[in-house]
Amino acid sequence: MGVLALQGDFREHLAALRACEVEGVPIRLASDLDAVDALILPGGESTTMARLMEPGLRASIQRRGAAGMPVMGTCAGMILMARDIQGGRADQEPLKLMDIGVRRNAYGRQIDSFEAEIESPAIGGAGPAVFIRAPQVTERSPEVKELASHAGQTVAVRQANKLALAFHPELTSDRRWHQYFLSIDGEHR
Ligand code: GLN
Repeated sequence: MGVLALQGDFREHLAALRACEVEGVPIRLASDLDAVDALILPGGESTTMARLMEPGLRASIQRRGAAGMPVMGTCAGMILMARDIQGGRADQEPLKLMDIGVRRNAYGRQIDSFEAEIESPAIGGAGPAVFIRAPQVTERSPEVKELASHAGQTVAVRQANKLALAFHPELTSDRRWHQYFLSIDGEHR
């Protein structure tokens, strides 16, 4: 399982995978991606990650993502996966791996970080979710299923084998979201 390791909390994702007894491979170059069958895009700063992503890696993620490689994005990773970004930088081209529109930093300064219990059939009940300058899903096509909502906002979505979370499962000790993604990866082998 690859974890994009250009910036952000990729170490926490690698640790979460270890806790699930899965080897995580840090991905920095296009050639790194050749060694993995699925990818996690971590939380951090989507603008910085987009800037640090070399064109070959970007093209490879897009090509393999379109060809069915399972991908999970958390927070900034969700932003990278979107079709449209509101509040992005002019030069921030999304990867368009999912048919969603997102708004960056959608919760505003007053509540820019918070923790909440969210419920989802994906994790078989309720679990903790850490939101840090989180995005909101502003649009989604009918193929995109909502897996969880919080305060009337969609915070977890799945489209085929793509999973995007507005929060950071990697920053809690609850591994059920990683396990859910690993089960999606398993289904697609
Ligand atoms: N606001 C960040 C961005 O736009 C995402 C924050 C996060 O990943 N915690 O990329």
